[in-house]
Amino acid sequence: MGKMIYLDNAATTKTAPEVVQAMLPYFSEYYGNPSSIYDFAGKSKEAITKGREQIAEVLGAKKEEIYFTAGGSESDNWALKATFEAYKAKGNHIITTKIEHHAILHTCEYLEKRGAKITYVDVDENGIVKLDELEKAITPETILISVMFANNEIGSIQPIKEIGRIAKEHGVLFHTDAVQAFCQVPINVDECNIDMLSSSGHKINGPKGIGFLYIRKGVKIRSFVHGGAQERKRRAGTENVPGIVGYGVAAARANASMKERTDKEIAIRDHLIHRIETEIPYVKVNGDRIKRLPNNVNVSFQFVEGESLLLMLDNYGICASSGSACTSGSLDPSHVLLAIGLPHEIAHGSLRMTLSEETTMEDVDFVVDRLKEIVAHLRSMSPLYEDFMKKQNK
Ligand SMILES: *Cc1c(COP(=O)(O)O)cnc(C)c1O
Repeated sequence: MGKMIYLDNAATTKTAPEVVQAMLPYFSEYYGNPSSIYDFAGKSKEAITKGREQIAEVLGAKKEEIYFTAGGSESDNWALKATFEAYKAKGNHIITTKIEHHAILHTCEYLEKRGAKITYVDVDENGIVKLDELEKAITPETILISVMFANNEIGSIQPIKEIGRIAKEHGVLFHTDAVQAFCQVPINVDECNIDMLSSSGHKINGPKGIGFLYIRKGVKIRSFVHGGAQERKRRAGTENVPGIVGYGVAAARANASMKERTDKEIAIRDHLIHRIETEIPYVKVNGDRIKRLPNNVNVSFQFVEGESLLLMLDNYGICASSGSACTSGSLDPSHVLLAIGLPHEIAHGSLRMTLSEETTMEDVDFVVDRLKEIVAHLRSMSPLYEDFMKKQNK
């Protein structure tokens, strides 16, 4: 096999070498417990403070508003469950969307069993949340609006500023899952009226198993993990010092390169989309053309199974992802593709390719050349395609 072409950066990213380098001393050299009082432990404590500052800076937040967690899923769970508990006296209603990550949707299902009322707002055919529906859903019992900043499957970027304005006008807390958007699009928590924000290290070339929840000063949500006094008593447990160090470096690095990197990714993304659309028949590009993550391409190929496509791409060392949740043992197409109105049979033939700073034009040209062959081959074996062509040729 030749070189690998990794186009699954929405699933996880390579930990950047300088991130690994920055982390290493905090395993074997400065391994002190940040809560201890001797000077040696102070090194660990300083490192955490630095990481917190590096991250706060990206968001225009205060460092005291950053709470480290074990990743995006934990941050999402915390934001929803603890808000539900803390604001019971006000109400039990949470507004979210149909295209959230499962870390939000499955948490909502959990809360529904415990008395929460959840409204799942629709999105349009480009995967952008319907603001009028969202605003109409607000009732006096509404305690939280949770809308993802950008979607992990189709890359659509939500009107976060408008949602923040609506939430503020109605006195409702606003949480956003920004796992895909953090360091990919500029975010300022004050400009967008964001009260809580989730992010994850391994999506920005940082380490796995570390994330944070931004909680605006004054928001009264409950502690998530009970125990020691870490993270201002809100999330107990000895801090993941190397993880925090790596996360901080990854955030500073990705923030510094954001403009240049995303400009380059957008050019490659649009080239990839253009070639697929012009060179392969019966395809549909999913997600918004403009309000889209710089590194996201999501295409449905009619008369093709996404899983077969993935396996054949893998034979060429190309790593991508499909639109159905086969990995979870279910054959249902993704809830996101269904929410934008794709029929099941088209959603099944979907492919997600997410680029990194290392992806080149040559890489994506190679991918399109292989895709053309593979799609033609799979269609040649499809009875549906055969029927369709017979009808076309009548
Ligand atoms: C990856 C992802 C998560 C989960 O993050 P983990 O750190 O893997 O738990 C949550 N939301 C979105 C949008 C994601 O892409």
